[in-house]
Amino acid sequence: MTVDPLRRLKIMVARSKLSSTKLDWDEEHPLERLIEMKVRRELKDDGGFRRSLGRSRLTDVTRADLVEYQLHKFRKQMRYVQENSIFYRKRFQELNLGPSDIREFEDLCKVPITEPNELAEEPFHFLCVSQSKVMRAFSTSGTSGQRKRLFYTQEDVLNIVDSIAAALRNTQMDREDVLHIMFPAVTAWDPSLMLDGACKVAGLRSQVCSEADVDRQVKVMTEGKVKVIIGLTSFIYRITVLARQRHDLKGLGMKAIICSSEPLSEAMRREIEASWGCKALSQYGMTEMGLATAIECFAQDGLHIDEGNYLLECVDPKVGGHKGDREQGELIWTSLNMRGTPLLRYRSYDLSCIIHPPCGCGFSIIGKMGKPLGRNIIETKIGYGERIYPLLFDEAVLAVPGVLGYQMVIDRVGFRDKLSFTVEYLGDPGEGKRQVGESLQKLDEVRSSLDNDLLEPLVIEMVPAKEGFVPKQIAFIDNRKLFDSTK
Ligand SMILES: [Zn+2]
Repeated sequence: MTVDPLRRLKIMVARSKLSSTKLDWDEEHPLERLIEMKVRRELKDDGGFRRSLGRSRLTDVTRADLVEYQLHKFRKQMRYVQENSIFYRKRFQELNLGPSDIREFEDLCKVPITEPNELAEEPFHFLCVSQSKVMRAFSTSGTSGQRKRLFYTQEDVLNIVDSIAAALRNTQMDREDVLHIMFPAVTAWDPSLMLDGACKVAGLRSQVCSEADVDRQVKVMTEGKVKVIIGLTSFIYRITVLARQRHDLKGLGMKAIICSSEPLSEAMRREIEASWGCKALSQYGMTEMGLATAIECFAQDGLHIDEGNYLLECVDPKVGGHKGDREQGELIWTSLNMRGTPLLRYRSYDLSCIIHPPCGCGFSIIGKMGKPLGRNIIETKIGYGERIYPLLFDEAVLAVPGVLGYQMVIDRVGFRDKLSFTVEYLGDPGEGKRQVGESLQKLDEVRSSLDNDLLEPLVIEMVPAKEGFVPKQIAFIDNRKLFDSTK
């Protein structure tokens, strides 16, 4: 494919501004190195950071230095939004709160959480630059609540590209390797194009294929000599289950499969890894934070956070305090470098935890988030107050070989809850139904609700797998009108 000279020139100029391109190709830990580079650069450029750190040079960057960097950047971002965002200026004025109130990590709790609906209602009250400086505007798909508008400056876009490039290289993607990008082309905005563009700017090779046709997907991968795949988790899973029947997927020699935008259950991970003969890694991103926030490493014990660009807290959503190492809570994100729509303590509604360094992969300073378990707004209760969330059912239903996807509906019949599953399945429906039923009844939450007579017998309907069809994301539908969430 030819790229016109002017566009090529623009790509070259953009590339020269990236930090990720300055990393050696044989660098063992690209993501951690990129974050260290950010800390060192801040130290060089900002006297305030030198003062708060009490040093003007760093030989090695330690965890404590990185935490100090994040607090310094938080204060700096607080000052920036105070000056430039209508929303935050008003909020901090009302509370008489300023950057000097943030001295240590616990002080972050003084800053109120920003709710997604506040951003959805008044996107321009968050915008911190003049419209002429906005390079890209994005709208979120609005699958959970209102549509949100985000504005990125050129600097924001370059930062996102850097983040994506370092994350990809952390999966051992090399200069010669081709990344195969597969998101179903049904979403309101297309993550494939953003990713593909980021690769081109960062000097990585990539191709996009959104085809639901299994044979076509495998053909494009084979011809493109693909070594790393990234895509929507359920879409990758579906193509895997259908393709392995008639293709030698292991023979393609993949290095890694990156499962993005949806939680990756261990059941799915096992199937994907066994089929392709490589590791399946989970990736987490939010449009509000610029897409590439965290990626799992080969140790598969949590996702490394790009802490040069994002500060992550895990809190108890009801009480508000910070959770400790590996304690489950809700994730709260702050973008430390965003210029267009910077967000401070932005509520994700995602349930997970924070894992402190070091990590088995060799990373010593950057932290991790646990695997996302699903969203707090989707989490609900059945029976005698048993907490349920989508990943719980993913583990049970998708553990049955041949299941491609499913939908679960919760109803209330009299005083009992009723769970109905529609399961897309490849194989003998009678046998599939038996196995899915057995697997679901092994869940403590289901077992206890059945034992207490608070759950109707499970309803399971098997539907045959349809090739060349892209289903909607795995759904969890709650129809209980009288449901009392405070139960
Ligand atoms: Zn690691």
